[in-house]
Amino acid sequence: MKFSDLGLLEPIERAVHEAGYTEPTPIQQAAIPHLLQGRDLLGCAQTGTGKTAAFALPILHQLVRYNQRPAQKQTRALILTPTRELAIQIFDNFRIYGKHTKIRCSVIFGGVSQVPQVKSVAGGVDVLIATPGRLLDLINQKHLSLRSLEVFVLDEADRMLDMGFIHDIRKIIAMLPERRHNLFFSATMPPDIRRLADSILKDPVSVEVTPVSSTAERIDQKVMYVDRNRKKDLLRQVLQDKSLSRVIVFTRTKRGANQVSEVLEKNGIKSAPIHGNKSQSARQKALEAFKDGKIRVLVATDIAARGIDVDNITHVINFEVPNIAESYVHRIGRTARAGAEGIAISFCDAEERAFIKDIEKLIGQPIPVDRTQPYHSDDVEHARMMSKGKAKAAIESAQNQRRHKHGRNHRSKGGGPSRGGGGGSHRNDTRAGARSESRGGASSASRSGPSPITPRGATTTSKSAITPRPNTTAKTAQTSKSQPPKSTSKVGNLFRGVFGGRK
Ligand code: AMP
Repeated sequence: MKFSDLGLLEPIERAVHEAGYTEPTPIQQAAIPHLLQGRDLLGCAQTGTGKTAAFALPILHQLVRYNQRPAQKQTRALILTPTRELAIQIFDNFRIYGKHTKIRCSVIFGGVSQVPQVKSVAGGVDVLIATPGRLLDLINQKHLSLRSLEVFVLDEADRMLDMGFIHDIRKIIAMLPERRHNLFFSATMPPDIRRLADSILKDPVSVEVTPVSSTAERIDQKVMYVDRNRKKDLLRQVLQDKSLSRVIVFTRTKRGANQVSEVLEKNGIKSAPIHGNKSQSARQKALEAFKDGKIRVLVATDIAARGIDVDNITHVINFEVPNIAESYVHRIGRTARAGAEGIAISFCDAEERAFIKDIEKLIGQPIPVDRTQPYHSDDVEHARMMSKGKAKAAIESAQNQRRHKHGRNHRSKGGGPSRGGGGGSHRNDTRAGARSESRGGASSASRSGPSPITPRGATTTSKSAITPRPNTTAKTAQTSKSQPPKSTSKVGNLFRGVFGGRK
């Protein structure tokens, strides 16, 4: 299929052509025709599939086609997204695709002055991309109203819920006009997300880009079994290989990211942590330095890494194995962007074995074990496997103990760094902590130019089945200085109706 087969307006098709896209990705092929007909859409897809253009192109098409000046302080389309990085990327994409049109776009997010944002929406906009907190702030201050909204897009719904935005989302939905066109995207579809989708969408068409496991096929993966308190030693060891030239190390917590980055710096390995506790300029600086090759290792939490769009990442290292299998796929997908192939290494301690099993089930393949590394532990590899629930509880309990110990040390010694852990404060990356990531932090790596997309199948169905995701927990890793051990479509025409009705 070619873009010209989709029937998009000429200025939009021209912009797509100039962006270097030759053919629509599977999700674009599956979604755009339905969206042009006004169907509500339930999209099960993650970033990297061409999802943004899948909704941006038909929205631009309809806004231009049923052209109407937006009233003051109003927007015609709202794209709600969890993080500032994603908000900026989506905004950049709208500007690229809409550059030959007169469509006015604006982006608002927290953590920065609201003054320019208030100005940008004062005269009314066609497309507003927003994070939930700042959107509600501006609405409450009467700088903005959603009264005449025509299109509503909820992006990354699963992440929204993980980040504790459900109440904000419900408040925003209650402000929307009854008659509107709805698009709902989520990488996963557990029951709570499905319920939320059901409460928003009317007779939606479901488009699913299948399945997350396909990302994993292009990546050379391995797991290294290691005692928790040897992980930092193992990381130093692994990084001695200079072919690891652009690396993302994932930790579960912000504090863990700081600690790992400090250890690397002390060992002469240029690195920077990136997470929501860092100022916007610090995150931006770290990203730029990483992109320019001035730092070799970026140490990131899952949420901070979501918006990172950097090509040629040679390796992803999971310093801690995520307890959500889909997060693993998101993480390792960082190293296979733009059609490249990459390497993903997971450091797995005894408690994390259950998570590896879960991941293997999701990706449908075993992850080869590297037993040649000097910190390999047979004991860890053959430790009795806990259930995922027990493993989560054990990790949380160890983390609490370390936190407690850290608190005592802190009090008795009058402060100073904890010896106990590569982990983090309990609230990190939990609902409260994660939420702050969208309110304080970085600008994005904006996407420009084409990025070849690996062809993946997309299916259009009335229902999509995807593995439910459990809740996120925080976990701490330990620090230890040690030597290597010896061993071992009813087409509703709602869209057309909405736009047509206002003509
Ligand atoms: P997304 O899933 O929206 O985050 O898109 C991932 C990347 O794919 C972005 O860098 C887009 O610019 C790029 N992209 C989107 N659609 C296409 C396409 N049809 N052909 C090539 N690249 C694309």
